[in-house]
This record gives sequence, C-alpha cells and structure tokens, in this order.
Amino acid sequence: MELLIENVSKTYPNGVQALREVNLRIGRGMFGLLGPNGAGKSTLMRTIATLQEPDQGRISFMGIDVLRQKDEIRKLLGYLPQEFGVYPKVSAEMLLDHLAVLNGITSRAQRRKVVEALLHKTNLWQDRKKKLGGFSGGMKQRFGIAQALLANPRLIIVDEPTAGLDPAERNRFLNLLSEIGENTVVILSTHIVEDVKELCTDMAIINHGQVLMQGHPQAELNKLRGRVWRRRIEKSELPEYEQQYRIISRKLIAGKPDIHVLSDAPPGEGFETVAPELEDVYFTYISGMQQALPAS
Ligand code: ADP
Repeated sequence: MELLIENVSKTYPNGVQALREVNLRIGRGMFGLLGPNGAGKSTLMRTIATLQEPDQGRISFMGIDVLRQKDEIRKLLGYLPQEFGVYPKVSAEMLLDHLAVLNGITSRAQRRKVVEALLHKTNLWQDRKKKLGGFSGGMKQRFGIAQALLANPRLIIVDEPTAGLDPAERNRFLNLLSEIGENTVVILSTHIVEDVKELCTDMAIINHGQVLMQGHPQAELNKLRGRVWRRRIEKSELPEYEQQYRIISRKLIAGKPDIHVLSDAPPGEGFETVAPELEDVYFTYISGMQQALPAS
C-alpha cells in the first residue's frame, strides 16, 4: 500500500509555480507534510484528492492511476479540507446517518451500528444530538473525520486541520488521526511543526513548491545531534551574528533574541549545545542550510 507521487508540477494561470517536480513515496501510517503558508501543500492535497489537475506528473495508489481513474480513487479516499462546511441545523447523528445512506448502508440496524461506532471513535457521542452549527472548531473537525471514515477509506487527506484549535482539541484530533488504522495512509498537511513531532512516522518538508526532504523525524533529529548551539544575545548583536553564524532560528525570550546556530564544532564563547528539536530540522531546511548536514 503506497501512494506514489512522481514529477508533479503545477503553475496557476497567474504564473505562480505552486508545485515543482514533486516526488514523494508515502506508505501506510501517518505522514506529515510540513511547510509554511504558500508552500504548495493545499495544491498538492487537492491534486491527490482529484479536485484539481497538475500540469504534469503521475500519481498512483494501490495500482490506481489517481489522475485518470478518478472514480476508482474516490472510492478509497477520505478528504477533509481546510474549511469544512456543515449543515448547521442538522445534528451530528442525523447527518452521519444520512451520509451513511448515501454510502450505500441501507439497513437501518447496520447504519445505527456504524454511526454509533463513529460517534464514539471521534468522541462526539455526548454531542450527537447537538446541531452542527453550534459545534466548536475542534468538534467540526472531528465530525469531518467521522464522515470521512464512513466510506472506510484507505487514503485519508487532512489539510491544515489544527489551525484554530485550542491545545486540548488539537491533541485530541491528532490522536484520533493516529488511531485511524494500520491499513490506511493518512496525510496530514500542516504549517505547525508540533503537529508532526510526535505522531508522524514519516514526513516531508515543502517550500516554494519543492520537496526539501522526506524522511523519518527521528533520523533527521539524529543528523542534527551535537550540531545545534544556543545563545541569548542582545538585539543589537543580531546583525553581526547573522553575518558570522548559520542561524537556524531566533526567538525572542523576555525581549532578548535566543538564537539556535548550526555548527559542527563549538561556535564560540557563550554558546551551549542543545538537544535538537524538530523545529531545528524544519528551519535548517527552510533556510537552505541542509548542505551543512551529513548525507542520508
Ligand atoms: P499552502 O497550502 O502550503 O499554503 P497553496 O497550495 O495554497 O499553499 O498555495 C501555493 C501557492 O499557489 C501560493 O503562492 C498561493 O498564493 C498560490 N495559489 C493557490 N491557489 C491558487 C489559485 N487558485 N490561483 C492562483 N494562485 C494560487
């Protein structure tokens, strides 16, 4: 079971090159597609979900040509877009029941069983009688997963699902995704490094339409081990440090920049070594410093 993306490119009519020869091989489990806003994530997600065409390239999943056999792939696909519209006046239970009919589950008893199981799985059982219009962002997203799971998909695509969720909801949602099942490919597109950190077994970083890396989060962290150094500096020193060092990231802590620097050897006085975080991996690639890392 593998989603294979080969040489996919897309330029929008306004000239924006949203995808540049994207190649990815995505196996079962949870895959994190990480990149800043405008990187091309949604374009790629919509293309895999057969909602738009690339200019070139090939995509296949379980022997199906995704770009040509759209009806076939749609039977295996669950897609949760960034903005998820719901019928505001209907309850979660009623809408799921209705969607189950559309999915061909005609037996009422069978439907009740399926809908009940999904409401429990997505932690919406308590709220099943509430109207969807009154749902919070997180509840809506969980409902989105419930309806996507109705069709028993083998490929699930969720595009920026955690934007706007509070931390508790975010955790609940990510845990739900990671529990979805062994025989499923789940692609989570996000600009939030933390989303990918704990639950994704495989990940890619994309920027300006280009895949900068694909690999295991842990293996990437290992590459950085012993190479990340931190120091608190004065704001006025920042330009000088930027000249002198490979700065991966800068954060203001109590008004002072806290910089992370990439260096094989101790960079100098006042720096201390730190255990690398996925954020360091992310910024290393996004700022084009990956040449300084050992080859995979
Ligand atoms: P992301 O999901 O990573 O934020 P998108 O795929 O939405 O990235 O966008 C990639 C680039 O393509 C951006 O520069 C965006 O402005 C542009 N873009 C997205 N959709 C369209 C469109 N329909 N027409 C023109 N440009 C678009």
